[in-house]
Amino acid sequence: EKSPVRIAVTGAAGQIAYALVFRIASGALLGPDQPVVLTLLDLPQMQGALKGVMMELEDCAFPTLAGMAATDDPKVAFRDADIAFLVGARPRGKGMERKDLLGANAEIFTVQGRALNEAASRDVRVLVVGNPANTNAYIAMKSAPDLSPACFSAMIRLDHNRAASMLAGKAGIDVGTIEKLVVWGNHSPTMYPDYRFAESGGRKLAAMIDDEAWNREVFIPTVGKRGAAVIEARGASSAASAANAAIDQMRDWVVGSHGKWVSMAIASDGSYGVPEDIMFGVPVTAERGVVTRISGLAMDEFATERFAITLNELKEERDAVAHLLA
Ligand code: NDP
Repeated sequence: EKSPVRIAVTGAAGQIAYALVFRIASGALLGPDQPVVLTLLDLPQMQGALKGVMMELEDCAFPTLAGMAATDDPKVAFRDADIAFLVGARPRGKGMERKDLLGANAEIFTVQGRALNEAASRDVRVLVVGNPANTNAYIAMKSAPDLSPACFSAMIRLDHNRAASMLAGKAGIDVGTIEKLVVWGNHSPTMYPDYRFAESGGRKLAAMIDDEAWNREVFIPTVGKRGAAVIEARGASSAASAANAAIDQMRDWVVGSHGKWVSMAIASDGSYGVPEDIMFGVPVTAERGVVTRISGLAMDEFATERFAITLNELKEERDAVAHLLA
């Protein structure tokens, strides 16, 4: 009998969490023989709704759910956490500017970073989903000086999955056969989905598609605006696919990607000219919690241009919150 893995989820009364916690509890993250204990964090006024979520979790009678608790205190939520999904974030309100949004979230993620620093397992794996995810992850990491920067990542897997499905459709191949797809940079419309290296069954996708105008004018903008398109169609945001991507990214991180390249936003080590510590989407492989960046990929003129756009956005976000971290 394996001992339970402790998993914290923030924003646990929200939409993404509603698609996420049931899958974690069912074994979709760590497998059918790994018990989990869930700790659900949300704001004080959401505790009633959280109670409802726990009632439903109970009513699923998941054999892998070994225990659960709800709290509004990050230190309680993160105590001995092995895994943390930071989903809750301040949504952009009417008339709120980007810097107000960054500021409001900086406060949340400073507090949560400190709480992780104090209470979480020293090997905790923290995935930030709440937007602006990359910069929120950067803030949490900077607020947790006793934890390794390698404990933190931001979600870029939804963009990666969106890009993979669109490429599969275009090339007429099964999405599961796609290897070596990359999404660079910020989880925002500036991210750069890059299939120059991608392959399916040993064949280059770029050769199978061979349509640079489609890449630039259809593929990249469509992936970038996919979230807005889902809201337009569904009348609500892409919570289920976001939760699915969170599961995918965390599972590949803690269990392993088995040699497959996946995109993850991780603290830069200076590779590709990204200033150190910026949380930047890069291709990686992962094995049992250890991430290895794929380095040395060549950049052509267009790639360099796209890369700079998303990097500049992240530098601006970093600079906008710098005074809050001092
Ligand atoms: P969601 O669960 O729909 O979204 C949560 C966060 O995920 C948002 O920042 C959202 O960004 C982001 N996100 C990332 N990718 C996606 C995607 N593809 N589609 C949609 N969202 C995405 O928000 P809810 O408002 O339903 O729930 C948030 C919960 O968090 C609430 O219960 C709230 O009380 C809680 N909260 C908790 C805090 C805390 O514990 N300290 C602090 C703040 C909030 P975007 O808004 O840009 O779409």
